[in-house]
Amino acid sequence: MSDFVSHLPIGERIPMPEGGIPFWEIFPYEGDLQIKVLDEPVVPEPPRRGEAGPEDCGCQEGFRNPLWSDDHWVLVGPEEPAALPAVVLIKPKGHYDLMTLPPERSAELGPMLQRAERAIMSLGGIARVHVNRWGDGGAHLHVWLIARPEGMLQFRGTCLPLWDDVLPKLPAEVWAGNRRRIAAAMAAEGGVSHI
Ligand SMILES: [Zn+2]
Repeated sequence: MSDFVSHLPIGERIPMPEGGIPFWEIFPYEGDLQIKVLDEPVVPEPPRRGEAGPEDCGCQEGFRNPLWSDDHWVLVGPEEPAALPAVVLIKPKGHYDLMTLPPERSAELGPMLQRAERAIMSLGGIARVHVNRWGDGGAHLHVWLIARPEGMLQFRGTCLPLWDDVLPKLPAEVWAGNRRRIAAAMAAEGGVSHI
């Protein structure tokens, strides 16, 4: 166990920090809140999906819910409507995580993120596209791009995914239309739309 973890207040009630994020306008919840008591650390951690390789990941049989792809990259996203105008993920077709991405793919990642951001911005009414890479669920690199609607200042910053969880979902036809337009905007610069 690391020094960091051994110094955490595991099992103790942690007081709510004055002025912390729960007191900011971007925090989606209000009322009486308390911080969860920390569980004991789990070391070694359980393997992530795909940790043992492409067979374990299933990525070489294809990607679920693709919007667009080219020879090396695929843009995927849920078919079920989210609340925000766009939630998509960019992935390499090869089974890599960020640390293991070959140099030629790494060099493409920046331009690919720019293309995906432009495609989402082309929907209109989008102030910002939030780009996130967490990777705690799956070992196959997946970078989230989440649209923040213009004018909604409470949705700024790190709580945007929490707002997506609590807001009413988009009508199915609006969501499908947004996915189609993003796929078409990507395909306009190369690769193919799958919608
Ligand atoms: Zn994979």
